[in-house]
Amino acid sequence: MKRTVLAILALGLATGAATVWPQDKPAEPAKPPLFATTKVDGTDNVYIFRYANHQAMFIVTPAGVIATDPIGYGRPQAVTTYVDEIRKVTDKPIKYLVYSHHHYDHIAGGQPFKDAGAKIIAHKRVKERLAVLKDPATVLPDESIGNRKTIKLGGTTLELIYVGLNHSDSSLVMRLPKEKIIFAVDFLPVGSVPGLAMIDSYPLEWEASMKKVLAMDWERLIPGHPGAPGGRLGTKKDVQDIRTFLQEASAEVQAEARAGKCWQPAEKEVTLSRYAGWPGYEVARPLVVRRYCGLWGRGT
Ligand SMILES: [Zn+2]
Repeated sequence: MKRTVLAILALGLATGAATVWPQDKPAEPAKPPLFATTKVDGTDNVYIFRYANHQAMFIVTPAGVIATDPIGYGRPQAVTTYVDEIRKVTDKPIKYLVYSHHHYDHIAGGQPFKDAGAKIIAHKRVKERLAVLKDPATVLPDESIGNRKTIKLGGTTLELIYVGLNHSDSSLVMRLPKEKIIFAVDFLPVGSVPGLAMIDSYPLEWEASMKKVLAMDWERLIPGHPGAPGGRLGTKKDVQDIRTFLQEASAEVQAEARAGKCWQPAEKEVTLSRYAGWPGYEVARPLVVRRYCGLWGRGT
């Protein structure tokens, strides 16, 4: 018996070894490089700096550079790389560094920009939060703004607009009116459903802030994480799609909450299965339900 099993095993191994050749292995999908700097099509001076899965916009003008989000959380080398990448495009001074919102994965590590002479600008809630938390890797803003500020530099106009609570309480929309481009981070994901972005969010106000963004004049959205698929930019349809997703999730969890089903079994029952093909769905679904259970089932 034992000998028969061994013989079968040996035969299996032999035939297996005889039929698999290195060239028959499926090709591994090409990994994107760790970082990349890309000029946005159709513009003279608008760039995206991507490092791993985060990205920031920078604008080059004859009078200097406006940069955004240092994206250096736990990886200071991303920030020095970012500055080096700007230096490959221009030797003009880096005048500004604008924070998109207060989350460290987007704004930690800004010291090399400060050292280069940049003035750091953010919504006023950013400084209020950072001042309490005293994160050693995150530089405090030099200037805090309320609902609106316009930066004009070397012929480029950049509007910084606060559209209320959403994914955070400090998110700015950065709008280039001439180019009809906006840069907005985490509250307008492109082609994927929000997951971790829900955790400390303000769901009802989030929907209202998206309505304000949809009413603005723009055509392309640069997101803070590469758009799916292929790192694409977003459109108003993408914003509308996420708004619909949040509205549907909210309504479904509201019904569960009012039937006394939060946190469980709502977290198992609300499947939002029509979004199952979207990137991030598996991770996002329970987080989305939990956040809306917090709202409708707890009152927060
Ligand atoms: Zn965030």
